[in-house]
This record gives sequence, structure tokens and C-alpha cells, in this order.
Amino acid sequence: MRIQAICIGTELLTGHTVNTNLALMAEALDGCGYTVACEVCIPDELGVIRDTVRAGLAQADVVVTVGGLGPTCDDLTRPAVAEVLDAPLHFDAAIYRHIEEYLRRRNVPLRCEALHVQAQVPERATAIVNRNGTAPGLWCPSADGGHVVVMLPGPPREFGPMFLDDVLPRLRALAPPDVARRGLRVVGVPESIVEERVDRALAGVSGLTKAYCARPLSVDVRLSASPDRAAALDAALEALRAEFGPAALDAGEASVVASIGRRLRGRGWRLATAESCTGGGIAEAITAEAGSSEFFAGGIVCYANDWKTAQLGVRPQTLAAHGAVSPETAREMLDGLMGRTGVEAAIAVTGIAGPGGATPEKPVGLVYMAIGVRDRREVHCRQFPGNRGTVRDRAVATSLILLRNALQESDGAEPAAATPAG
Ligand code: AMP
Ligand code: MG
Repeated sequence: MRIQAICIGTELLTGHTVNTNLALMAEALDGCGYTVACEVCIPDELGVIRDTVRAGLAQADVVVTVGGLGPTCDDLTRPAVAEVLDAPLHFDAAIYRHIEEYLRRRNVPLRCEALHVQAQVPERATAIVNRNGTAPGLWCPSADGGHVVVMLPGPPREFGPMFLDDVLPRLRALAPPDVARRGLRVVGVPESIVEERVDRALAGVSGLTKAYCARPLSVDVRLSASPDRAAALDAALEALRAEFGPAALDAGEASVVASIGRRLRGRGWRLATAESCTGGGIAEAITAEAGSSEFFAGGIVCYANDWKTAQLGVRPQTLAAHGAVSPETAREMLDGLMGRTGVEAAIAVTGIAGPGGATPEKPVGLVYMAIGVRDRREVHCRQFPGNRGTVRDRAVATSLILLRNALQESDGAEPAAATPAG
């Protein structure tokens, strides 16, 4: 099934709106074994919409339009698609009542003209109820039944649920998946080395497509093949798991933070952070993960020296002798944090994010990350390239990876020791 997405909205082309709807749609389709063959982003212009939908139908079985179903003069998707499909618009009283009811429940004063526009439906089309807004989605088959144009509203909170709950099941009913996929997330190994090791592990396996995506916290390896080769994909994934061992996230661990969380929860341990140059970014990354309250105790942002002393007990002599950005300070931040809070795992970070504050001995990008898992304490030093934002992002990512690795190593160190024998 060839699917083309047409995202409509001048604001998308001026950078005022990020095209999150495409990302959501493409990811959901990909997860079910379909792909967006092509996406086109166009302005709110009737002629452009018409031409793009027409061209899309010449190439694709399904054209999904996003946006331009609103009540204002620049919302032109409906008439454009109606014209291309030669399916005149007519007023649908049931949709009109649904919109009225939706607005009444929210005490929004009715604007009748606008409501009328949104209750216009092309011939042969089925409306998809919008539970989060007024404009219904419209599922419009072509006259010969060989193609479908699906028109969906642009506001993400309307688009998302409608695509996932209503449109995706209908698309799945149209045609079987085109592709089977398996993925592996590798942590702490550079992309080029990942590729070398994948090639080695899968030497002799043919008919699989490999793809790589370097992310801040991991390298994603993606294998794909035709749906009838699912067994070969499973075997290949096993081979990769054997190759990468602990560097690969386990099945069911979607992220490094999830991996940290699983290891902490398993032992009833808690995590805390003390952050200087990352300014709370590590705590933010941890708490972005749902369920992190089960293992994250909290974080302290201590930027100024006197706060490092007051909040964490870093000795003024240490700061005077070695500076705030030093392995000694990182270590005392960690020890102070763990000692004062009693957590079993902790991260402390201090560094020079730039652009100011550097010296010849301590250049921008120098970051010390102290990692503690119970009595095991270590301080890592990195010299990150890039600007302030990049240095901070890399410090967040690296310290999370280091903590995951430390937790993993402590897994091996004390296997069933927590379970009393007999
Ligand atoms: P529309 O239905 O075109 O009037 O769009 C209504 C709202 O949805 C506007 O705030 C748009 O910026 C937003 N929107 C439209 N298309 C997208 C998209 N592809 N991704 C994210 N937001 C969008
Ligand atoms: Mg618009």
C-alpha cells in the first residue's frame, strides 16, 4: 500500500509550526509495517493543494492530507479535494449537530457560518467523528474505488487520537503490512563501530535491509525484510543481541532511562542527581520517563560554589585548590549527595558549558561526571565538542549512559546475593 502524506499549512513552511503530525503518523505506520512513501508540505493555496492531491493520487493508493479543515478563509483542503475527486460537497446535518453539541458542552459561542463549512462532506465520503474538536476527518474513496483520500484536522490534539484510533485501523483493514521490522538500541558504541559489528554478526545473512540512526543516547539498528521473512529477522536480532551483549538495551527497554529504571526498581533503589553545568537537564531527562517517580528521589541544581558547599557539603578548600570544575569537586558533590540523602545511586556533574569561563587548562566542553552505585564511586572526565547547548546535551546523555553501565556491572557483581539461600 503506497501512502502519501500531504501536510497543508503555510505556518509549516515558515517554521512557525513544527510538523509533529507527520512524525506521529509515520512512526505509528512504521510500527504496523507500513511506510509513508512520500510526504509533501505545501502552503494554504487552493491551486497548490489541488495539484498536489492530484499528483499524489497518481502515485499512491492512499493520500492522507493533514490540516486546512478549520473554519477560516485559509482552510481550503475540503473544496480542493472535492474538486480533484469530482465529489461535490454537501451539507451533513448529523455532523452539524455534532459540532453544535461539541461547542455547547464547552460553552463556546456558536459561529454558524464556520460550523456550516465544517459540516460539508464530499460525495461518497464517510465522516470520522472528532472527539477533540469540531472538524470531522473525512475518508473519501475515489469514484472507481481504487484510491482513498483521508482528510484530517491539523491541531495535534485532534489529529493524534483520530489518526491512531480511527484511521490506522481502517488503513490496516485495507491491505496487509508491506514490511516486517526488528530493532535494537545500542548504547555507548560509536555508529561506525556498530555497523562493523552488525556486518560481522550478520555475515552470510541476505535479504535483510539494515539501517542505522545515531541518537544522543544510543545508536538504533533497524532490520527490515518482507513480511514472510519474519523468522529470519528474529534469528538476525538474536545474533545481534549475542554480538552486543550488555551494550544493547533489552527488549522492553525503550530508552536508557527505562533501562536505568528497571535496574533500580528491581532492587528497590533510589536515584538522585546533583547538577551544575547541566542545570537540571539530567533530572528533566529522567522525569520525562513515565513512572520515574518509582525510583527518582530528586535533584539538586547547585550552580554557585556556596551552594555546592551548603547543599552538598563540598569543602571550600577543595573548591579553592582544584576549582569547581574538577574531579575532586565532582566526587565531593557525589559523596555529599549520597551521604545526605541516603540514595543508592547518584549522578553529580560539573563542567564548563561555555562560551565563557574557560582557561587554558580547562577549556569549554570539559565535564566531570561522578557516578555512584552504593560504595562504587567513579569520576569520568570528557572533553565534549560543540557549543553550550551541545555540551550540556552530551553531558546529560553521557552521564545517563555511565550510570546505566555502572548499574549493569553491579548486576553482575552481586547476582542472587540479595536472595538468602535455603
Ligand atoms: P488547520 O487545521 O490547518 O487550521 O491547523 C490548525 C492548527 O494545527 C494550527 O495551529 C496548525 O499550526 C496546527 N497544525 C497543522 N498542521 C500541523 C502539522 N502537520 N503538525 C503539527 N501541527 C500542525
Ligand atoms: Mg491551516
